[in-house]
Amino acid sequence: MPELPEVEVTRRSFAEPIAGARIVALRLGKPLRWPLGVDPASLAGRRVLGVRRRGKYLLMDLDEGLLLWHLGMSGSLRFSTGLGAAGVHDHCDLVTDRGVLRLHDPRRFGAVVYAAGEADPVARKLLGHLGAEPLTDAFDVRHFHEGLRRRRASIKQVLLAGDVVVGVGNIYASEALFLAGIRPTVSAHRLGRVRVVRLHAAVRTVLERALAVGGSTLRDFSNAQGQSGYFQLETMVYDREGEPCRACGTAIQALRQGQRSTFFCPQCQKG
Ligand SMILES: [Zn+2]
Repeated sequence: MPELPEVEVTRRSFAEPIAGARIVALRLGKPLRWPLGVDPASLAGRRVLGVRRRGKYLLMDLDEGLLLWHLGMSGSLRFSTGLGAAGVHDHCDLVTDRGVLRLHDPRRFGAVVYAAGEADPVARKLLGHLGAEPLTDAFDVRHFHEGLRRRRASIKQVLLAGDVVVGVGNIYASEALFLAGIRPTVSAHRLGRVRVVRLHAAVRTVLERALAVGGSTLRDFSNAQGQSGYFQLETMVYDREGEPCRACGTAIQALRQGQRSTFFCPQCQKG
């Protein structure tokens, strides 16, 4: 599943070349997770001003309205002048005078949604509950701590929920908790300031590391056809059940939390 770093690298791969492009047509294939919400023909002639990211959504500002793109479970976006006819898993082509932005999404959990603006109820429903952006100043220790103090669920699940801090998916939550030395099952409200400071730094570190890996493979990533765009990270705990911890050699353990697998080192993550 594309996570924040993959979405951000996707954004960087086409935000600049598409800025200023004029929309020629928007062509839809099979239904996606949510309907577009506007007659595609009405978008013709509008100009793309730029592309921002909020959590795992890409916000494409038009000179009138905006398009929200989400990659779902298996989506990927390519922007090129040299794309052939849409294939069986290509469900949206945004045709512009500078090239075609194509959503390839075999499982069709992705979506393209039109909203009049960010205050539009359609946009607010998708974006309104999102927590702080982890790589901006909005994600500070004090607010992070306040958000965690109000939650009794496990810290792993609170990270995944996305309403305290956004974009920390399953891989990055497991990795950040390892880096901070925190047991994934600890109730969020039990974390004191010292551990919150460590976790705050760890969340940033793992996401920045992934962005750096993604950035270095940006060329392959944006050119990859039919790939969902996982970055090849060397993980410390994620997907390493039974393997020796890279820090202490203890066997990594796995458990289920809210239908998701969590991986941790029982020795390094005692707190
Ligand atoms: Zn360890």
